[in-house]
Amino acid sequence: MAKTSKTNSGKSARARKAANLRLIVQIFFFALIALVAVNHALEEAGKAIPVLSSASLHAICPFGGVVSVYQFITAGTFVRKIHSASFILMWIVFALALFLGPVFCGWVCPFGSIQEWFGKLGKKIFRRRYNRLIPYKYDRILRYLRYLMLGWAVYMTAVTGTLVFADIDPYFALFNFWTSEVAIGGLIILTAVLVLSLAVERPFCKYACPYGALLGVFNLFRIFKVRRNTSTCINCKACDRSCPMNIPVSTSGAVRHHQCISCLKCTSEQVCPVENTVELTTIKLETLAEEAAS
Ligand code: SF4
Ligand code: SF4
Repeated sequence: MAKTSKTNSGKSARARKAANLRLIVQIFFFALIALVAVNHALEEAGKAIPVLSSASLHAICPFGGVVSVYQFITAGTFVRKIHSASFILMWIVFALALFLGPVFCGWVCPFGSIQEWFGKLGKKIFRRRYNRLIPYKYDRILRYLRYLMLGWAVYMTAVTGTLVFADIDPYFALFNFWTSEVAIGGLIILTAVLVLSLAVERPFCKYACPYGALLGVFNLFRIFKVRRNTSTCINCKACDRSCPMNIPVSTSGAVRHHQCISCLKCTSEQVCPVENTVELTTIKLETLAEEAAS
């Protein structure tokens, strides 16, 4: 009994450490982007902070690189406000996604983070009903809306040569709400998403984010996958309950769902109560266990 509680406390300490690590990374990127946005505004008033880049958020947005691809190929130029840095970041995020899936969404994107933080308040309000309020039959269809958004943003940027998505982009609105650069549509969507985040975890990521849609495709062929060992799983469903994107981990061998954001909450490091049962790995866990036993 004493041994079991020692093991459990060791596991919960590890789980806390893993969750804290992600939180620290999220806070770091949130603060960094906020600083860049504030510095850009100061720069326009001639008071920029030395050392810091005076780039606008558009210039360092990897999705800006994605919507600029057509113009870059056909005319060799970037869409207005987009910078070569967007292209470089786009390739870095793609390379990361090839190995680990959409870690950008789960660890870096400040707009994903703020939805998650609003969700913490929502969990207190809705308790067990939090993140389970939209009936499954509607939810599973609504999740494909973000691919429509992706197609629309890429197509419209290509034909107009302007950042059409910027006018409704809640991420841009969040970090520029005090400036005249933000369209009213962006502010309305920002408010709606933050309010909805109290009831649904990461609603913008689930239903509307075009960049998340694109990165989600990498879940089909990423090298390191979240894998479940079917022979040690006790079917407690703790992994399903922990998943912010409502992915049924407990019935998956390897998670290939287009909405996984690589947050790793479902793993044995964090929520799964059985050691080595949900892991981020390249090889089937059953094979690893057989190799260890032989
Ligand atoms: S499946 Fe696991 S890693 Fe993927 S989003 Fe859900 S909890 Fe996070
Ligand atoms: S939390 Fe672990 S043991 Fe429980 S259902 Fe998920 S994989 Fe199986």
